[in-house]
Order: sequence, then C-alpha cells, then structure tokens
Amino acid sequence: MKNVTVIGAGTMGNGIAHVFAMKGHKVTLVDVSEPALQKAVATITNNLDRMVAKEKITADEKAATLSNITTYANFDHSTNADLVVEAATERVDLKLKIFTELDQICAAHTILASNTSSISITKIAAATKRADRVIGMHFMNPVPVMKLVEVIRGYATSDETAKTIMELSAALDKVPVEVNDYPGFVANRILMPMINEAIYTLYEGVAGVYEIDTVMKLGMAHPMGPLQLADFIGLDVCLSILNVLHDGFGNPKYAPCPLLVNMVTAGYLGAKSGEGFYAYTAGNKDLVVSPRFNK
Ligand code: NAD
Repeated sequence: MKNVTVIGAGTMGNGIAHVFAMKGHKVTLVDVSEPALQKAVATITNNLDRMVAKEKITADEKAATLSNITTYANFDHSTNADLVVEAATERVDLKLKIFTELDQICAAHTILASNTSSISITKIAAATKRADRVIGMHFMNPVPVMKLVEVIRGYATSDETAKTIMELSAALDKVPVEVNDYPGFVANRILMPMINEAIYTLYEGVAGVYEIDTVMKLGMAHPMGPLQLADFIGLDVCLSILNVLHDGFGNPKYAPCPLLVNMVTAGYLGAKSGEGFYAYTAGNKDLVVSPRFNK
C-alpha cells in the first residue's frame, strides 16, 4: 500500500490525504477543481502547523508529510496506486463513472475504496470488474482527529480485501469497525434520522436553533448539537444521505424535512458555504445562529 490516490480534495479528501501522508504513504490527491486542490494543500499545511505548535509532531515530520503529497487535476495518475480512496461529491452517477474509469486505468492488484457516507458499495462495485477488491472506507470528519473508520463490505468484497483495509486503518492509528452494506451502513443510519428530526423540530416551531442544540449538548452530552453537526457535515451531504435511506428502505420515516430541501436548493449548505443553521464569518470562531432563524 505504498502509493495511495485520493480522488476528491474537499472536506474529507484533504484529511484522508493528510493521515496517509503522515504515515509515509505516497499520496496523489486528485480533483477536477484546481482551486479545491490549492485549498486542500493550504488546509493540510494549517493543520500540520497546529500539530507542530502543540508539539504533537516536529517541523521535520511536517515537511516529510507535505513532501509525500502530490496534487493532480488529472485522473490518469491513479494508475500507479496500490489503493484508491474515492472522496468525491456524494452523487451516485458520479461515483459509478469514477469507479468505471478507475477499474480501467488501475493495476489488477489495486483496491478501490469509497469514502461514501451512504451509497451502496455493492452498487459501486458492480460498475467494475473487480467487485472483490471494492470496499467502503468511511472516515469521519475531521479525518486527522476522528478515530473511527467504518469499513463496509459490499456483497462481493473478499475476505482478503476486508482484512487488508482493516489492518491498514489500524496502521493509520484509527479504530476500524466492519459493517455490512445496507443503506446508511451503521453511522448514518442512526445519525441522519436524528439530524432530520432536529430539523423537523425547528421547522415545526417547537424550539429555536440554539435551544435544540443546547438540549442535545447538555442533555445528552453530545459534543455538538445536531444542527451544528449538520452544518459541519454539509447540508447537501445530509440531504443526499437521507435520500439514499428513503429510497433504499422505502420507508417514509426517512423523508428529508422540507426545510432541509429548501436550504440546500437555495445554496445554504452550512459551514462550507458560510451559512446554514448558523452564520460563519472568517475570523470569528463564535457560534452565531443564522439571522434567518434568530428572529
Ligand atoms: P466536498 O463537496 O467537500 O468535496 C468533494 C470534492 O470532490 C470537490 O472538491 C469536488 O471538486 C470533487 N470532485 C467532484 N467530482 C470529481 C471528480 N470526477 N474527480 C475528482 N474530484 C471530483 O465533499 P466531502 O464532504 O469531502 O464529501 C466527499 C465524500 O465523503 C462524499 O462521498 C461524502 O458522502 C463523504 N463523507 C463526508 C463527510 C462529511 O462530514 N462531509 C463525512 C464522511 C464521509
């Protein structure tokens, strides 16, 4: 697993590149967007600087980590990869296209992993001719901090592939947990209905943003309220996952709240777009409820 290609340099891709590079893997970070690649390298550099300041790593380790990362706005470079971790936008059509192409350009031994939050690994694997070497490797956000990797076995994932990815995740100092491939896997099957219910609670006027999040933080000892967490994950990502649960189980209990649908349609995607349930301004670390919900 010397050469690792990460497809997608957004919220998750930069963190995944960071943790592999810190463990000495040669990482190729690929994105269709040049600005996304530049932003990813800036984010990784900032995060490493913070680790140096806290004396978690040395300046030499920071330099070595950065030297292990190469960026490309071109797919072909994944051909030398032993492992590909796909972390592109959460869209089924896009993932199927990416995996079809990866299957054609990667070596026979290459394992193709997806960081998808909810899309069926079995479906993604069926777009390739190597379903035994396709697997879910679901890191949590922020990747350098969060310990869990949910390892999802598709219907045809081989024991050998699962063992390799479990061992590799442990070698990254993560705690891998193996689960089977059903909509939302475990993490989002449980988390997203809670977030959706919090949005419904706001939508029906039961309580405000601050009140809902405070009840869940102080009452349930959650480090972040569900609405803040939704902003942090990305409201578009939350909506995609709820749609996968809704379609996959055919159960109306997973229907996304109309308020979430409206917010995503209008481009209010949470922290990454500057506004969701909270308003985010550069340089301000305080949590400020969006004026839209603070009447
Ligand atoms: P994001 O929107 O921040 O980044 C996605 C990136 O993919 C963008 O930079 C985009 O330019 C790039 N991209 C789109 N098409 C591409 C292509 N054909 N080739 C290469 N790059 C392409 O999204 P994200 O939040 O990082 O999510 C990425 C994946 O990780 C999704 O599958 C998501 O479900 C999953 N995930 C997200 C979180 C989270 O908290 N955001 C947590 C766990 C898993």
